[in-house]
Amino acid sequence: MSSYITDTINYLKHSSPAQAEFYQAAEEVLTSLKPLLDRNPKYQKHNIIQRVVEPERQIFFRVAWIDDRGNVQVNKGYRVEFNSALGPYKGGLRFHPNVNAGIIKFLGFEQIFKNSLSGLPIGGAKGGSNFEPKGKSDNEIMRFCQSFMTELFRHIGATIDVPAGDIGVGGREIGYLYGQYKRLTGRYEGVLTGKGLNWGGSLVRTEATGYGAVYFAQNMLAERGESLEGKVCAVSGSGNVAIYTIEKLYQVGARPVTASDSNGMIHDPDGIDLDLLKRVKEVERARLTRYVEQRPKATYTPVEDYPFGRNQVWSVPCQAAFPSATQNEVNAEDAKELLKNGCICISEGANMPSTQGAIEAFLAAGIAYGPAKAANAGGVSTSQLEMSQNASMVQWTFEEVDAKLQRIMANIYRSASETAKEFGEPGNLVLGANVAGFRKVADAMIDQGVV
Ligand code: NAP
Repeated sequence: MSSYITDTINYLKHSSPAQAEFYQAAEEVLTSLKPLLDRNPKYQKHNIIQRVVEPERQIFFRVAWIDDRGNVQVNKGYRVEFNSALGPYKGGLRFHPNVNAGIIKFLGFEQIFKNSLSGLPIGGAKGGSNFEPKGKSDNEIMRFCQSFMTELFRHIGATIDVPAGDIGVGGREIGYLYGQYKRLTGRYEGVLTGKGLNWGGSLVRTEATGYGAVYFAQNMLAERGESLEGKVCAVSGSGNVAIYTIEKLYQVGARPVTASDSNGMIHDPDGIDLDLLKRVKEVERARLTRYVEQRPKATYTPVEDYPFGRNQVWSVPCQAAFPSATQNEVNAEDAKELLKNGCICISEGANMPSTQGAIEAFLAAGIAYGPAKAANAGGVSTSQLEMSQNASMVQWTFEEVDAKLQRIMANIYRSASETAKEFGEPGNLVLGANVAGFRKVADAMIDQGVV
């Protein structure tokens, strides 16, 4: 490891202990930047690396709320405003029991470069809570969201910091959060994205991350003279990103055959029944076992039966894979299995789903590998389109937003691909996305002085 990488990671380990996911994300980005830093001493002169790994502001707070039995519950709340060189802070809120400062920081750090790569004027942030929404009543979710916003509202605003959804935060939660923001401030403004369609939301925002990941795969494959048509695809997760990845895969003539949740995975060789999956996950909010009860040909494998240390989704033979659940869900062994079975395309809907070992295997094999900060940037990009519509009080049609999304994904692909070529590693979109994303942020930081 080059000394600036080791020095920075050692510094982070000392100054921000026990944040493994954050060190992992930082190391991946810093490693890619070496050729850029070697060519451009200005970044070292302005100490950009030390500045960019330090969030501009971190807000940690207590979220107290009352459950349906009248008991007082307490969770942790987080908002990490990482970098505002390119625009107001922007990034989702995650509600999941494993959320901690390291996970929010890794997500916020990734978000800086993803947002830069989107070509849109947005900075990077992330937030959330270790709150578990599963098994909670609507009223409990509402009370939690209201308490969470009662602290968060003073730190955000339509031109300051604009949160969105992420794991565990969908339309219902955004609604409750928005209602409380409005009540506390008296302002009806585009302070959150992912809003309901009849009160300021944008068409295509719900579908954007999944659709975008498929558009990104199409761009990667087109340059190789390939397409998704007729390809068997493996998808992990069964939330927002997974569902709309599956929907778009059908629209482009592919056959998605898997989905998963934190309890297990389904394999449906004829193709996932999308209406059934939506009903189980979006309406009934049930587990995937409900899906197989109604699809005799589909099989269900619980997590306890996965091969040791592996994710069973990646053992299903496929030509293209769309990790769409969570971080580190594809390890080196999973990657080997995917490659052995003939997978030629990975497009990451989830954030940092592949471990460093898996990334190295994909790059070494020379397959089309779309890293998260490029492949899943469709979500935040459409959030920015929602901000634009709110600011100008207009509403674009589905077709208009979708066309913009397709153009944005094509531009992101081109930017990552051309940057990879510029640095002598054609096809290495990890290097391309990291360098292209970083360069814009770093140049803006230099322009704006030492702040
Ligand atoms: P979601 O709607 O809450 O769905 C998350 C899915 O992943 C669920 O099926 C969930 O299963 C599964 N999952 C979560 N944690 C897991 C774990 N530790 N192990 C196994 N499965 C797990 O969230 P989402 O919005 O689809 O987000 C999925 C991924 O995409 C995340 O990495 C997120 O950061 C990323 N992403 C989302 C957006 C967006 O616009 N929503 C944009 C960019 C990136 P359970 O229901 O059992 O927990």
